[in-house]
Amino acid sequence: MQRRAIFIDRDGTINVEKNYLFKFEDWEWIPGAVDAIRMFNEAGFLVVVISNQAGVARGFYGADDIEKLHASVTRILESQNAKVDGYYYCPHHPEFGDNRECDCRKPAPGMILEAQRDWDIDLAHSYMIGDKASDIEAALAAGVHPVMVATGYGPDERKLIDSRVPYVADLLAAARFIVRGECDPDIS
Ligand SMILES: [Mg+2]
Ligand SMILES: [Zn+2]
Repeated sequence: MQRRAIFIDRDGTINVEKNYLFKFEDWEWIPGAVDAIRMFNEAGFLVVVISNQAGVARGFYGADDIEKLHASVTRILESQNAKVDGYYYCPHHPEFGDNRECDCRKPAPGMILEAQRDWDIDLAHSYMIGDKASDIEAALAAGVHPVMVATGYGPDERKLIDSRVPYVADLLAAARFIVRGECDPDIS
């Protein structure tokens, strides 16, 4: 049977947005993010991180740095009974590196579609949560439900997307909205 998934952007959605973060020392959880991931786990969703990491193409850090960071994040999550099932990232950039026309960099849906093939995901009943218009566009292109958060670049990027896209305070509010159907009426 196909599984439902929650695709989650990383920087600005799970952790505090810092330009080209790659060291675990600099990793700062957005409050409630671990609880949100655990809620998705317990509700039976696959949790898949979908992240643009153009810092690789720009030479700021390597793919091994990203793997190391994700391994540290996984350890913290494990200690708190939460789990990310898969990490997908795009190391490319349109103006740097050897692949400038990839189909994985959001707003393209490539990473979501790759995860779909890997995990046999039911896209029509899945969600993508992020703080940027490019996250929302990737969601719509892949055929998953978009949810925008007001953390990271959310407040500015909100103006760039269709006002009907659900907009919630943060990842935990997104979990309450998706898992429990609770609205987040303070945000507009
Ligand atoms: Mg982001
Ligand atoms: Zn790419």
